[in-house]
Amino acid sequence: MKTPVPDYLSEIRDLCSVGEDGELADYIPELAAVDPDRFAVSACTMDGVLYTAGDAGTEFTIQSMSKPFAYALALRDRGVDAVLEKVAVEPSGDAFNQISLERDSGRPRNPMINIGAITTHSLVGPPGASEDERDQVVADGLAAFAGRRLEVDDAVLDSELDTAFRNRAMANLVRAGGIIDSDPDEIVRGYTRQCSYRVTVGDLAVMAVTLATGGTNPITGERVISPRASRQVLAVMSTCGMYDAAGDWMSTVGIPAKSGVSGGILGALPGQVGIGAFSPRLDAHGHSVEGIRTFERLSSDMELHIMNPTISEIDPVRSVRVDRSTGRRTFRLQGPMTFAGGEKVVRTLAEIPDDFSEVTLDFSRVSVVNGSARRMLLEAMRRLSAEGHVVGLADPGRRLPDPDLGDGTRPVFRRAAR
Ligand code: GLN
Repeated sequence: MKTPVPDYLSEIRDLCSVGEDGELADYIPELAAVDPDRFAVSACTMDGVLYTAGDAGTEFTIQSMSKPFAYALALRDRGVDAVLEKVAVEPSGDAFNQISLERDSGRPRNPMINIGAITTHSLVGPPGASEDERDQVVADGLAAFAGRRLEVDDAVLDSELDTAFRNRAMANLVRAGGIIDSDPDEIVRGYTRQCSYRVTVGDLAVMAVTLATGGTNPITGERVISPRASRQVLAVMSTCGMYDAAGDWMSTVGIPAKSGVSGGILGALPGQVGIGAFSPRLDAHGHSVEGIRTFERLSSDMELHIMNPTISEIDPVRSVRVDRSTGRRTFRLQGPMTFAGGEKVVRTLAEIPDDFSEVTLDFSRVSVVNGSARRMLLEAMRRLSAEGHVVGLADPGRRLPDPDLGDGTRPVFRRAAR
């Protein structure tokens, strides 16, 4: 059998690449020179399988889709607080090229609009980095996200620099306001270069899934940024990534995303998938018309909206076995343990009578334990032990990291139930 996913993506191409509506971006002259009928779509799974359909070999410039990744690098290099001091995280409700500054602080409203992205570019790399050093950090960073070195499209870069009057004005504004301390011309050059890397639709999906995994590129295995930084990037993508269409996008598509005026859109659904779409004709907001159609279709067909409740039908307590001779209770747990699963387990444990019996938690069928479930489970184990139960742990896969009960005791290690 062949997996049906590629056929499904080809169907998406047939359904979504029919329109003639929309206009090519022409404020960057070179962008008006592309074939408007190109179309490609891609999806990359959490374990690094890449599916594509359409003109998947076509390269186009990354443009504003570089912004979340430059933001990620700034967060990595300067820390969340230092970046927040310079760039806010409020949706501007304005177009991408508007002068959207906070009234009191003078901070750009968010890192996804140009004025915020220009400022963010100045925060990549160590403080005091030269233009070349920043360029290098961006090149290395984008390569780590994509899993391959990307190349700058010099024609697009020169063409944009020739006409970047508005971006230069904005860089000068944030310089005058003391938000950036580097030379504004240098920053615009670096930012424009950052926007000029050539990517394919497959690169978009891999870069996106690297955010969806919490910062690890599943193809190379490289940890690019921390889970905290990825969360921050995805949060800002979901509120600001689609500029003045962000609310509409979140309610219909519901996937944290970023578009670029070259016609690409990338989307990252945390814990599930990274998606790329490419088709150069744009709507009035500067988003690919067919790209939007593609995301709408994928979201509804595949139920990818982030606000869909993730329904786990698995009872986190698979079974409870009581050994008649010793009185030992073994709770066999299963599935992913997050807040909801952990709460159900600790509620079940709370029903154990005060009979000083032995209680063993068997984690051999648990797939993953997050921090919240870990805290609740360890606290329940600590309380059981304080009340006089002997607490045992069977965890051959070490799903429960560092099972320290916090009262100087540790659970008794046991073999998993058969
Ligand atoms: N390089 C472009 C600019 O700054 C990026 C804009 C975009 O893709 N929305 O104008």
